[in-house]
Amino acid sequence: MYNPKSLKAEEFINHQEVLATLKYAEENKNNLELIDQILNKAKQRKGLTHQEAAVLLDCQDSQRVREIFNLAEQLKKDFYGNRIVIFAPLYLSNYCVNGCVYCPYHFKNKHITRKKLSQEDIVREVTALQDMGHKRLAIEAGEDPVNNPLEYILECIKTIYSIKHKNGAIRRVNVNIAATTVENYSKLKEAGIGTYILFQETYHKDSYEKLHPTGPKHNYAYHTEAMDRAMKGGIDDVGLGVLFGLELYRYEFASLLMHAEHLEAVHGVGPHTISVPRIKHADDIDPNVFDNGISDDTFAKICACIRIAVPYTGMIISTRESKVIREKVIRLGVSQISGASRTSVGGYYEEEAEDDKSEQFDVSDKRTLDEVVKWLMELGYIPSFCTACYREGRTGDRFMSLCKNGEILNCCHPNALMTLKEYLMDYASNQTRPIGDKLIEKELDNIPNPKIKKIAAENINQIEAGKRDFRF
Ligand code: SF4
Ligand code: SF4
Repeated sequence: MYNPKSLKAEEFINHQEVLATLKYAEENKNNLELIDQILNKAKQRKGLTHQEAAVLLDCQDSQRVREIFNLAEQLKKDFYGNRIVIFAPLYLSNYCVNGCVYCPYHFKNKHITRKKLSQEDIVREVTALQDMGHKRLAIEAGEDPVNNPLEYILECIKTIYSIKHKNGAIRRVNVNIAATTVENYSKLKEAGIGTYILFQETYHKDSYEKLHPTGPKHNYAYHTEAMDRAMKGGIDDVGLGVLFGLELYRYEFASLLMHAEHLEAVHGVGPHTISVPRIKHADDIDPNVFDNGISDDTFAKICACIRIAVPYTGMIISTRESKVIREKVIRLGVSQISGASRTSVGGYYEEEAEDDKSEQFDVSDKRTLDEVVKWLMELGYIPSFCTACYREGRTGDRFMSLCKNGEILNCCHPNALMTLKEYLMDYASNQTRPIGDKLIEKELDNIPNPKIKKIAAENINQIEAGKRDFRF
């Protein structure tokens, strides 16, 4: 039985409910009256149910599809302005006991180099990341209770937060590690993590079990119920995601939104972020083996429909995607991107030798952080290195009320400008700096509250004079 309030995976991601949703969407994909009603509801910015969003995703009427894209663009502007938050992944270890068939870190892969960063390695990696200008990391590690126990992850987080190189600092560490116990989630919370991210990969139980034939990750219920345990452990910012290409995208889309509805129904707060990775080539992995790949146009429509369905949830895209695709989906709703990512263990400090492959997937966007920052600004976006909410204790529903009260322009916007100014002062190239300074001058005028505008301008002057780390 479908029940969004249940704590059992098979009840809140109920297979029959997903099938019924897909049937309803298929039957109504040309029902223009219903589609217009759904679009009108979406325009009120209150989000959509999984059934309603599934109808929009299936809609083929060209005028309505245009409206979907326009609305996604408008909501993106209303809720996130022209800011794009920047982060980098940091791979701690690729030891893994799981058998995920789409990932080169699966335990049977004998020709990948297994590596685990020591605390000294982490100092080198994080210093290299700080020297690029990064302030926000997402740490990643395979599941291996012997090589990567929770104590190792906690030690790494402590080390990362302790490194202060020149004006650099990592101010927010998001964590993407395997599903674990409530007790371990409490320890991660105590260690001061930002968001706990766990990709579901696929919500389709049978496919999930086939794609994860061995290892603890094989347990569908334990994996799918992880976010409930994380929230029970005190983590109130959680990040969902599926790996598009493994299963039929309509199934994943409806289930992803059902998961979001479940978190809202049980914990009173939906997911902080949704990531939208697509399967990519990697050592030992040929994406063509998976026959559910999606076109760029479908991918863009998925992003637009997610933006409309859950306007308060941040959307993340990685360097798996090319510059061209990133440019398209940033407009439609993506609010966070990674920049200058290395998807190998130890990849920031040292360039990999050809025969020393340890990447999790091939990166499509290989530009430097400075190039990404310059590109965003030339497109009219403000690259933001802001980490203020987590440090001010504005997580979970407190963060959501910031979004819902429309305070973003008085909070995120000045924070973005101040952190961009820090980046320009400390790390930007001579070509990038003047573009940024001009942008900051122009964007200060867009802060509605005159008092905040004045303080932000003063802070920016102080950053110019050498001070750091201001925030609202
Ligand atoms: S996806 Fe994660 S759990 Fe699966 S093999 Fe790769 S690193 Fe291990
Ligand atoms: S103020 Fe909070 S919500 Fe806004 S960009 Fe900073 S961390 Fe994100």
